[in-house]
Amino acid sequence: MFYISTRGSAPALAFDEVLLAGLACDGGLYVPSVWPQVSSVEQVELNNLNYSDLAFRLMLPFVGDTIAEDDFAEIVGASYSEFSNDQVVPLTKLDDGVWLLELFHGPTLAFKDIALQLLGRLFDYILTRRGERITIVGATSGDTGSAAIEACKGRESVDIFILHPAGRVSDVQRRQMTTVSSENVYNIAINGTFDDCQDLVKACFNDVHFREQVSLSAVNSINWARIMAQIVYYFWAGLKLGAPVQGTTFVVPTGNFGNIFAGYGAHLMGLPVNKLVVASNQNDILFRFFEKNEMAMEPVVPTVSPSMDIQVSSNFERLLFDLLDRQPDDVSEAMHNFRKTGKLVVPNFAWKGARKLFDASKVDDDTTLGIIAKIYSEKNMLIDPHTAIGVETALQMSAKLSRPIVSLATAHPAKFPDAAKKAVGQVPTLPPSLIDLYKRKENFTVLPNELDILQEFIRAKTY
Ligand SMILES: *Cc1c(COP(=O)(O)O)cnc(C)c1O
Repeated sequence: MFYISTRGSAPALAFDEVLLAGLACDGGLYVPSVWPQVSSVEQVELNNLNYSDLAFRLMLPFVGDTIAEDDFAEIVGASYSEFSNDQVVPLTKLDDGVWLLELFHGPTLAFKDIALQLLGRLFDYILTRRGERITIVGATSGDTGSAAIEACKGRESVDIFILHPAGRVSDVQRRQMTTVSSENVYNIAINGTFDDCQDLVKACFNDVHFREQVSLSAVNSINWARIMAQIVYYFWAGLKLGAPVQGTTFVVPTGNFGNIFAGYGAHLMGLPVNKLVVASNQNDILFRFFEKNEMAMEPVVPTVSPSMDIQVSSNFERLLFDLLDRQPDDVSEAMHNFRKTGKLVVPNFAWKGARKLFDASKVDDDTTLGIIAKIYSEKNMLIDPHTAIGVETALQMSAKLSRPIVSLATAHPAKFPDAAKKAVGQVPTLPPSLIDLYKRKENFTVLPNELDILQEFIRAKTY
């Protein structure tokens, strides 16, 4: 198994290289050259496995021979032993034929743990074997940062720098990052938006000299291994609800398009999927694309679901690659123009292709708070604002979506106490592992939105 770049001028790489590289050196994203297939017969057999055994089986073809099979099994097992629920990602019934897939039982209470707990261990395993060290730089609008830091803290062969937009991350989220005291962890607050943070990270990667100087790597959602790990829970839910005989509809609260792209990957591997529904907040660039083939950047609006406050969804490029019949020159051209003009032009045939599998919704803040209150009063269940956008979408569109519908619950409500307070008048309690979060000491550096200054900071800490 090898991986190719969506922009066509980076070398094809094996799994270990793709894991360490993050972004491809031509600015593109790595995708499998060919998607492994899981036959119907195999799906029936996989349905009997527990989560980590299923994860091992599904991910093995992606890893190929870059990691010894026994070692890989051990790494996967260890990654999911950190979760507080036996099932790892339990399905909870919400309504007739409507389910919540709870992805927030990891150490930092958001779905990002599912991939990052694995990534931290994979990095350590591969680098230790090679006697190498890397610098991880990532941008976060909230949940990625804490999950990445939690996955990398104290690891021998990694330094991690996490950028967050100053003042645009909730207190809980900031504290989950900035209260980790570990010599290899650096928190940086950038005076700017999440997109600014993400642009800085991309610029660091595009600077070949800098990239080599500090052995740069990424854990943000452009990293292929994250997509790989997320494919597993689509199979998990689909198999529980009738695959390979019956298809499933997935509703996914979407920001960077990483999570839902994993659903698309599961579909390409043979899982029957009826529809993938992109659930957006007011930052609705993806909604506008799927509605009317219009993808034009607009300023980011802060919402009650900050992990989805994104205008440029990096992983969309992976889908675009397929929509454009895997023609890397067309992808490069479209992406360069998008950067220049703020408009992504997608030919009609490609857009129509996307509409066969994807649908989209847009949910504003009032509606988000309204559905949190409704679910709380009707089901005695408190959901976080990101999950709420999915639930609202699933219920609103339920007449036109075929069941079973699985709505992805992407965060624990305690991560977003302000939204809960507004919606239901009370603050959810933090789980035991985080109960003293507000008493812990914070540690971070504020930097301007300037590439030179950021690079100098990273150099100084890694030399
Ligand atoms: C990251 C995140 C999202 C968005 O996921 P993408 O993979 O970026 O689309 C949604 N909800 C929560 C809680 C998140 O942390």
